[in-house]
Amino acid sequence: MYSLTTLKSKFLKLNRLILFLALTATTLTFINSFYSNYEVQKGQLILQTIEVNRAYASKLSDTTEVFITSSKQQLVYAANSLFDKMNNEERLKEEANRLKFQTDSFNSVVISDANGLTQAASPETLDLVGRRLTSAGSLEAIEEKTLLISRPYLSTLKNLIVFLSAPVFDFQGNYLGFLGGSIYLKSPNILSEILGEHNYKNGSYIYVIDQDKQVLYHPEKDRIGSFVAENDGIDEIVAKKEGGLLLTNSRGIDMLAGFSTIPSTGWIVVTQSPLESTLVPLTGIMEKVILRTLPMALAVFLFIWLFARAISRPLQQLADRARSLDSPTVHEDIESIDSWYVESLGLKKAMLNGVKLIHNQIGELKRDAETDPLTGANNRRAFEFQLKQLALLEMPFSILALDIDYFKRINDSYGHSVGDDVLKQQTQILNRFCRDGDMVARTGGEEFVLLLKQTSSEDAFIIAERLRVAISDETFDVVGNITVSIGISTWSISDGISIEKTLSLADKALYQAKEQGRNRCIIA
Ligand code: GH3
Ligand code: MG
Ligand code: MG
Repeated sequence: MYSLTTLKSKFLKLNRLILFLALTATTLTFINSFYSNYEVQKGQLILQTIEVNRAYASKLSDTTEVFITSSKQQLVYAANSLFDKMNNEERLKEEANRLKFQTDSFNSVVISDANGLTQAASPETLDLVGRRLTSAGSLEAIEEKTLLISRPYLSTLKNLIVFLSAPVFDFQGNYLGFLGGSIYLKSPNILSEILGEHNYKNGSYIYVIDQDKQVLYHPEKDRIGSFVAENDGIDEIVAKKEGGLLLTNSRGIDMLAGFSTIPSTGWIVVTQSPLESTLVPLTGIMEKVILRTLPMALAVFLFIWLFARAISRPLQQLADRARSLDSPTVHEDIESIDSWYVESLGLKKAMLNGVKLIHNQIGELKRDAETDPLTGANNRRAFEFQLKQLALLEMPFSILALDIDYFKRINDSYGHSVGDDVLKQQTQILNRFCRDGDMVARTGGEEFVLLLKQTSSEDAFIIAERLRVAISDETFDVVGNITVSIGISTWSISDGISIEKTLSLADKALYQAKEQGRNRCIIA
């Protein structure tokens, strides 16, 4: 069994449980909605950024494509005009300078004969005229005799260049040489002009690689000409022509990249932004989400809490009542509990039934403890209790102590059970003399008392006489007539006599009655 204190410390109170339930439910819901919102917003931001970068890369590759196409056209046009000037050094020099300075497309321009011997160069400071060109671009131009864009390579003058060249033919179709324009990848060039001015501020940047993953343009000059290290993201970029993805750059930073391929060269323009800076606005967004969802979460919390409290209230009240089942008002208290749903109503009814049962049993036990089983009269305990009550209330009373005369003889003559029947029958007579508030009690074997409330000794004597006569007039079953002797005493607060004394006085008076011949009443 648990005592109430251990019950309280061992188990949580329903109210706390409900508060815990409401808090947990609300918090979990709130966290869940916050988390899913966060994930959705994050995904959205990532997709948006990748798409913006892809569109930008696509725009830049278009612009570059336009530039390359126009550069090729300029080269072809100029080369076509050289068929009759290949032996005229002055005219070649003019043409090289015109191409270099008029268009600004190339960092340098060279014109070479069919053997790779430089006929003219611009700017003239290059000092290439008369020298044999041995760089990859020149050799390829002589070999292929067609319009070419080279891969990046180190030129004769140790510049990292991309070389565009157009062949020169005479009217008979004889190859006379080529006209070439170089773009110096590491110097300010037309590519850096197109791409460089578009640098973002949030850590985004643009770079260009070719199909061999060699870097053609990069905001960090050192990286130009190098090859991209093993990187799954870059492999995917080279494999696809256009698109976007999340990749980790050479510094281990997560980047959102968009890319697009320049059709005529196969070069790939990549625009990328750091994932971290992309997600910066997320903090603000999530703050707004919190501000918007918090009131609703609080409302839900309040609703769950109040509703659950309403559910628990009748249970709690029933539990409280269950702790004080001995209270005289427990039945009314339970009755007044508002059990507004089926289960609590069932519990309430069960408790009411239980209380009724307990009270009936308690009543029965109380009666058993206070009554004499043979006659149904009060026993000595009840009688003494009643005397004390009256004394406490300072209510005067008289006592008739009654004893059957020669009762032994009855037992001896007719048997014990006939004696019992006499006791029962006599009790009925005594009960008839009992007014409201009076009491009949069996105080010994065949000794009874009649307690008369607020009765003077004179009145008590009169009643005693009537009683004595009534008994002697009664015809008892089997036995016929019997007589009784009665001793009378009276108590009142003014007399200053104790209850014990009053009782013993009644006994003495009874003894005197016996002495004086029985069947009589004597006042103490
Ligand atoms: P007295 O006139 O002096 O009172 O004579 P008595 O024979 O009545 O003597 P006393 O009062 O001393 O005897 C009490 C007898 O009552 C003794 C006992 O056998 C009998 N008695 C006591 N209790 C019971 C009972 O419960 N049932 C029956 N049948 N007899 C009882
Ligand atoms: Mg007796
Ligand atoms: Mg007797």
